[in-house]
Amino acid sequence: MDLPLLIFTDLDGTLLDHHTYSFQGAEQTLRRLRECSIPLILTSSKTRTEILKLQERLGLNEPFISENGGGIFFPPGHALSDVAGAIPFNGYRGVVFGRPYAVIRGAFADLRRKFHVRGFGDMTVDEIMHHTGLNREEATLAAQRDFTEPFLFPADARSEEMAEAAAAAGLAATRGGRFLHLMGAGQDKGRAVAEATRLFQEKTRGRIITVGLGDAPNDLPMLQAVEIPVLLPGPDSTFADMDIPGLRLAPFPGSRGWGMIVASILDEVARQRCDDGNTGPRVHTAARGSAHNK
Ligand SMILES: [Mg+2]
Repeated sequence: MDLPLLIFTDLDGTLLDHHTYSFQGAEQTLRRLRECSIPLILTSSKTRTEILKLQERLGLNEPFISENGGGIFFPPGHALSDVAGAIPFNGYRGVVFGRPYAVIRGAFADLRRKFHVRGFGDMTVDEIMHHTGLNREEATLAAQRDFTEPFLFPADARSEEMAEAAAAAGLAATRGGRFLHLMGAGQDKGRAVAEATRLFQEKTRGRIITVGLGDAPNDLPMLQAVEIPVLLPGPDSTFADMDIPGLRLAPFPGSRGWGMIVASILDEVARQRCDDGNTGPRVHTAARGSAHNK
């Protein structure tokens, strides 16, 4: 890679606009990443098959992290696809952290007895389309789950109570942009990002600088696992409550904010590489900030 960067990004509400799932506002910056051969690792609560479809649209052929850190998957022939710990998984190779979906659904049935919740496994494709705004093909892919169950809960329910009930069952519940997600305990985006970073670093000469971008509480562990954490505002322009050293705030929600802030990080790293006479980049993370709900 020309610049020693590795970028992890959430999708919904981050690289993709919350309502339309468009990445139009980021296209120019995505082109720059391709030109500089900087790996962009999609790190999402979306399923393996949804992300594969999106990688096709983005022209990406990189490893990716599905279902909130459930697994890291490698495209066939990728330099990392034969790493220790990668196993065959539905025609792909992957490092798996998540519990099987059947186990998660079993535990979800218990949760459903205590709370008025409804998961993807209870919904028809039409219902998933209704709640997500995805088209039929995308909603069908979203229903093909490996590790996690996204679910709706009543507006007056306390998500903390459901998180406690999940923990009592040896699982965890985390909040994304639209849903709560039930998954294995110890599984999160941060763990998968840390492992992916380690794998990339092993194959790379010189130190890699990691960047992470997200918009919701389920992105917190990912943002804590990277050197340059970036938080995007939600569609209502407020920021999720996160207190992370060096946190940078994107100027706009979705693809437009993503494109602008990633472009500025590329400029900054390229400039420092130049200043350092190509002896290796340093990124100043002295500008510290945190976001709180307004
Ligand atoms: Mg998101």
